[in-house]
Amino acid sequence: MLWRLILLGVAAYILYRLIWGKRRRDSSARPRPSAGGKGEEVLVQDPWCKTYLPKSQALLLRDGKEVLYFCSEECKERFLSASTSRDSENQ
Ligand SMILES: [Zn+2]
Repeated sequence: MLWRLILLGVAAYILYRLIWGKRRRDSSARPRPSAGGKGEEVLVQDPWCKTYLPKSQALLLRDGKEVLYFCSEECKERFLSASTSRDSENQ
């Protein structure tokens, strides 16, 4: 009689582990819709080449009150040199 109880307990334990394990795997496999949504999918425009890119990948440039976003260092440099040369010439 004791054997049956032990077997039943083991079977119940295995069944519990299987169900629990399956449930855990299912919940973790499901893609979380708003996980880590810190606005990284916000698109910003490069003022130099007019390209839209994710804010997280953009190069930031603070220009007074404004913040400008560039797709690359090259665009940033060109934009800066263009704006500074325009200011210095100032005919
Ligand atoms: Zn650019």
